[in-house]
Amino acid sequence: MAELLSFANVSAGYGRIEALSEVSLSVAAGGITALLGANGAGKTTVLNTICGLVAARKGEIRFDGKRIDGLASERVVSLGISQVPEGREVFHQMSVQENLLLGAHQRNEADGIARDIEVMCGYFPILKQRYRQMAGTLSGGEQQMLLIARALMARPRLLLLDEPSLGLSPLLVQQVFETIVRLHREEELTLLIVEQNAAIALEVAQYAYILENGEVAAHGTPDDLSANDAVASAYLGM
Ligand code: ATP
Repeated sequence: MAELLSFANVSAGYGRIEALSEVSLSVAAGGITALLGANGAGKTTVLNTICGLVAARKGEIRFDGKRIDGLASERVVSLGISQVPEGREVFHQMSVQENLLLGAHQRNEADGIARDIEVMCGYFPILKQRYRQMAGTLSGGEQQMLLIARALMARPRLLLLDEPSLGLSPLLVQQVFETIVRLHREEELTLLIVEQNAAIALEVAQYAYILENGEVAAHGTPDDLSANDAVASAYLGM
């Protein structure tokens, strides 16, 4: 598969903390790539560096062949990358509809936006049911769905998802991941998913990277990683 995003030898951090040291990873076009690892391993920092929220101190990031490191985050979004940040809340005092429209703020074709809202309500029927309600009245799982739908309203080619399973019941985790797989298949969406729940991430991904202390500790297909006893017991809780 062709490479959509290349993250090559990237170092990044916060003040004197080096959160990533020479991390390299590749996201295949049209695929689902998982980024696994314990708390503090640097997963969120990878996503924030891709989005231009944290500066790369070293290395190169390319999207569709073009350098994107050093670009402002608005510019990165306009090139086709959207992020669903971890635990980030919806706008409570705005309706579901208004939250969805916010996701499309960089677009100006009303027809296309209206059509995409319909598409999102198809994938996430609960959003149609709650369309005029304040987003703050949604449950945690419903808010996670709204966040994903809102990010998709920007029509990204690459969606970065940070811990979509966080705080959800097992049933909801299953539902959210089933919808992610449908979106990937039917909308030809490329995904990079950060997860602490390695089992669910490896079910849907075609390739995974495991980060430890800001470095790539292992990478491979889910089958390869699970078959490697050392990797499986150290990082996958198997
Ligand atoms: P988590 O699942 O807890 O989000 P993570 O793998 O996503 O973990 P990061 O959030 O990327 O890890 O954090 C990597 C390292 O950078 C950690 O040591 C963390 O303490 C540090 N760090 C993250 N954000 C900041 C910040 N804003 N200021 C200072 N240090 C930070």
